[in-house]
Amino acid sequence: MAAESQYYGQALLLWQSVLDMMAPLCSKEDNLVLGSLTLKTKSEKEWILLAPNKFACEQIRASLFDALQMFLGNKGIKKVKVEVASTPDLFVSDASTPAPFESNLISDYQFHNFVEAPSNHEAFAAAERVSSGAFLADSNPLLIYGGTGLGKSHLMHAAGNALRRNGRTAVMYMNAEQYVNEFLAALAGKTQKAFSNRLRSVDALLIDDVQFLGGKTQSQAEFFHTFNELIDKKRQIIMTCDRYPKEIEGLEARLKSRFGAGLTVSIRAPEPETRFAILKSKAKEQNFPLPDDVAYFIAENIESNVRDLEGALKKVIFQCQVLKKNEPATVPIAQAALADLLQAQKKQTSVENILRVVAQYYAISADELLSRSRKKTFAEPRMLAMALTRELTDLSLKAIAQAYQRKDHSTVMHAVENMEKRRQSEPRFREEYDNIRTIITA
Ligand code: ADP
Ligand code: MG
Repeated sequence: MAAESQYYGQALLLWQSVLDMMAPLCSKEDNLVLGSLTLKTKSEKEWILLAPNKFACEQIRASLFDALQMFLGNKGIKKVKVEVASTPDLFVSDASTPAPFESNLISDYQFHNFVEAPSNHEAFAAAERVSSGAFLADSNPLLIYGGTGLGKSHLMHAAGNALRRNGRTAVMYMNAEQYVNEFLAALAGKTQKAFSNRLRSVDALLIDDVQFLGGKTQSQAEFFHTFNELIDKKRQIIMTCDRYPKEIEGLEARLKSRFGAGLTVSIRAPEPETRFAILKSKAKEQNFPLPDDVAYFIAENIESNVRDLEGALKKVIFQCQVLKKNEPATVPIAQAALADLLQAQKKQTSVENILRVVAQYYAISADELLSRSRKKTFAEPRMLAMALTRELTDLSLKAIAQAYQRKDHSTVMHAVENMEKRRQSEPRFREEYDNIRTIITA
């Protein structure tokens, strides 16, 4: 036991030294996430790091894990695991400790460092509009929805930061999961009153990822009252959701209708030019010279979302600055840095995986998807799968026809054209298509 606690002490020192080494290489937000990890060592060779919630864990896994592994590996820790802590550290408020309104917005997320593009234009404009400080009844609540990693939280924080600058100082940001946790902790500690007073006294309430309220009946009831009170008091509410809010399973009808009562805007996956612009902007922010051909290479290969794009850029920067000791970025270096990622991506965009995801999404079997049935429930997902295969793989029309057990490539061509037409003319269909693409590539 004594030896164990002595090792833990040494491990803490070692961990601190790794954090110090990584700090200058990481953005402010990454450093915050790294700093939120706690050490639960298993042995001198294997370490388990606990993340406070699944978002922190995902962020580490998406973009910081390679660096962590390398720095810890250099210190003799051969195996590293990052897990979500099973009992999150709950912040339980009481009346004597007023909420830290100022600290829960991420100051790095601003409008000026958000690249505005056709895919996010509507959401950007709406977020900017509600943050002028003037109360706009027609945009309350503002709900931004779209797939993961597309900039919803960034816009929400940017709006919060701007609201504070514009005189609405008490802006509270909370993830819906945190909301549920804090509410349950308040219930358990009999501090509900303080909890609801704290939320109902703000100038603006920002609730991220409201899909987490799905199925949480008690939290929904509490939120319903908070929501109504804030709207009545003309306080701004901003929410984000990973899907169209009416599609949140287990969300009370009265909340669904309240959520849609203000302004609802969507955010889509970035276009190629946007991905390029975002990479250039992120590299500039970090003073990293990123040549156009390298930015094109990354933008062409990482299509899924902005978070992955950032993760890829971090890998390239890490390769150039740390592994290659400050060599300038080139396409071959980027290729090497992203080799694992591209390999994994290739697997995700295999015909088998596309079939699997589409079949699962529509709750049909892969056999039904490949069948000759002309029933709408099979024929439509089949066309969608073919179009996605065309979009996500390098396969020729003929090869796709073969993969779908069709003789003639004109079937594929017809499917691609049909899907494109529907995407142009039916916004909801376009969202569905994009959603499935995100699931395949995420
Ligand atoms: P979401 O909340 O939709 O999952 P985030 O807001 O967390 O996504 O965005 C993921 C990362 O991508 C963040 O670091 C954010 O700064 C960045 N990002 C997303 N969209 C843009 C954009 N248009 N311009 C600049 N950065 C962006
Ligand atoms: Mg988010």
